[in-house]
Amino acid sequence: MEETCRRALEFGLPAIAFTDHADFNPFPAAEWHQLDVAGYLDCIERCRAAFPDLRLLSGVELGEPHRFAEEAARVLAAGRLDRVLGSVHCVEWGGVLVDTSVKGILTAADAPALMGEYLAELLALVESSQPFEILAHVDYPKRYWPEALEYDDSRFEEPLRAVLRAAARRGSVLEVNTTRARIMCPGAAIVGWWREEGGAAVSFGSDAHDPSKLAAGFELAAQQVEAAGFRPAADPTGYWLR
Ligand SMILES: [Zn+2]
Repeated sequence: MEETCRRALEFGLPAIAFTDHADFNPFPAAEWHQLDVAGYLDCIERCRAAFPDLRLLSGVELGEPHRFAEEAARVLAAGRLDRVLGSVHCVEWGGVLVDTSVKGILTAADAPALMGEYLAELLALVESSQPFEILAHVDYPKRYWPEALEYDDSRFEEPLRAVLRAAARRGSVLEVNTTRARIMCPGAAIVGWWREEGGAAVSFGSDAHDPSKLAAGFELAAQQVEAAGFRPAADPTGYWLR
């Protein structure tokens, strides 16, 4: 975290948020991403003291909180978290919840149907009463799409728009996740649909997982979000608004 703060100051970033994962689904391993909120907040405080010129927000990315309401509530009750992301990584497939990022899950035969399941799961999250603010990486399986298949947003336009509409209704913020500058999640078309469906705000995430990847891909993401009709906020911790 300290190294990430140092990088942020080098880039001239005025503010960053650390949104660590809290995942509750025991796939593929039960030890995955159990977040120690108190320990995490200690680290945040240490970084705030060490880097007073950087605005440092706390946060969390809750994985499938609508399926793990008690566990998610425990995380949120454990301390003050400035940014709460809601996300889906896992879908029910063959009777178990599987993470679509795991090798061998998104095969060429199954990928389109799994994407359909993914968007249904995302709609369930958005229509739940879970108190998250930012909707993370709405087309996450795209990152792991089989090479043998072409990926095209328009193939999933209807269910994607249903998710965006419901998210706009609950006042959510859409995350544009740059996947460490590899893949825009979502790309320009979906950010345009977000605006058309009434979406009011956009947040940027690099999903860095490593200090060297902080803000990677933000220049392109900012261009795409601006082209879709959103403008930067005056406050460096603010969302981009329409
Ligand atoms: Zn995620």
